[in-house]
Amino acid sequence: MNVKNIKSFIDFYKSLEISSCIAPLPRSLEKKDQKELTIKKSKILKEVKFSYKNKDKKLKELVEEIKASECDLKDVATNTVFSDGHNDSKVMLIGEAPGADEDKIGKPFVGEAGQLLDKMFDCINLSRKKNFYVTNLIFWRPPGNRTPNKEEISICLQLTKKHISIIKPKLLILLGNVASQSILSSNEGINVLRKRENYFIDKDLDLKIPVKAIFHPAYLLKNPIEKKTMWSDLLDIDQFISTNNII
Ligand code: URA
Repeated sequence: MNVKNIKSFIDFYKSLEISSCIAPLPRSLEKKDQKELTIKKSKILKEVKFSYKNKDKKLKELVEEIKASECDLKDVATNTVFSDGHNDSKVMLIGEAPGADEDKIGKPFVGEAGQLLDKMFDCINLSRKKNFYVTNLIFWRPPGNRTPNKEEISICLQLTKKHISIIKPKLLILLGNVASQSILSSNEGINVLRKRENYFIDKDLDLKIPVKAIFHPAYLLKNPIEKKTMWSDLLDIDQFISTNNII
């Protein structure tokens, strides 16, 4: 196994929250020790399977909880829009709320803004097929794409916090004002938040996750002049990911 393979192997185990791992058997080991190690190895493999299943199970339970929540938006939407990308990604993106295309298909960021999002993140080697997970603060399309109201945000925010605690990303990227202000509990606008060092902190859930707040791709579609700013934020994210060995 070369160094790169060993690193991805360790990262894989870390992503499953397993902190110990078995080295190859030294030739000199006695049969008794070999037997013990084989038992330990099969225990770890069971833990790996359990951790995967556990995350999947928790996400399925969360979807049920979302569908059973009291948010009025679910009565006027076609689909509950939950997430896309890999459950074990280290980078989690959170947008505002589904639009018409997302409501129709039941997946986040599949319309014009979603296509721009994919193009932008592709420039820094992030894609939902490979290494990011994407969702929205709000799980249903607000009629006519209006901004979600306080009550809708409050109901969905609790569920989104749970969502973050299940995925446990190493970096959270918040798209636009509504997601950034709600998740960071701040009244500052995106122009201030995008320049700040932010953390998502939840003492009850024992979480402290670094956050980058950036413009929403739908805002960029209307204000292409801001693409320059977005480019510099993407480079900053790329640098942060490399410096902190996130991927
Ligand atoms: N805008 C969002 O915030 N989320 C989507 O899924 C699509 C557009």
